[in-house]
Amino acid sequence: MELVCLDLEGVLIPEIWIAFAEKTGIDELKATTRDIPDYDVLMRQRLDILAKHGYGIKEIQEVIDTLDPIPGAKEFVEWLNTRFQVIILSDTFYEFGMPLMAKLGHPTLFCHKLEVNDNGDIVNYHLRQKDPKRQSVRAFQLLNYRVIAAGDSYNDTTMLKQAEAGILFKSPQNVIDEFPQFPAVHTYEELKQEILKVSETQSS
Ligand SMILES: [Mg+2]
Repeated sequence: MELVCLDLEGVLIPEIWIAFAEKTGIDELKATTRDIPDYDVLMRQRLDILAKHGYGIKEIQEVIDTLDPIPGAKEFVEWLNTRFQVIILSDTFYEFGMPLMAKLGHPTLFCHKLEVNDNGDIVNYHLRQKDPKRQSVRAFQLLNYRVIAAGDSYNDTTMLKQAEAGILFKSPQNVIDEFPQFPAVHTYEELKQEILKVSETQSS
């Protein structure tokens, strides 16, 4: 039996923090794990910037409401759901991700959680576990699932390594160059073909 695990941001929806940075004009919020590899350091910095500018959960959710999936993403998830069980493994937070799940046809999302006070300020965050994407794939394998995983960035690579088949999707060239062991594709059609190729069920 096979599961498909997909990253969310950069794969099915735009990067949430970058969208918020663009709407607010706060360039410092454009930093990602590519600039600051330690996710804890990056998140602390993001929360400090939000506090400094007086932005809370409400303002971020307003921006998220304006975001749409990447064109073709919803249809791709629908197609996947007819052939595989699909789990989204993301380093976002439920408070950000859930409104977007509705726009993708409500796939299952595993991610992290924010701590928000009564004023709507984001005061802390809780990572579900360390290396959560890889740990999720490992857990599915213990349940006797074979896992096909796709993601775009550094925080996906341990998940891609753990999976029986890992695919880079819409990755920047530096990630593709650094991880030549993974096939790299750029359109949903190519991703479909790659998934069918590595699937043991070979349904088409
Ligand atoms: Mg991503």
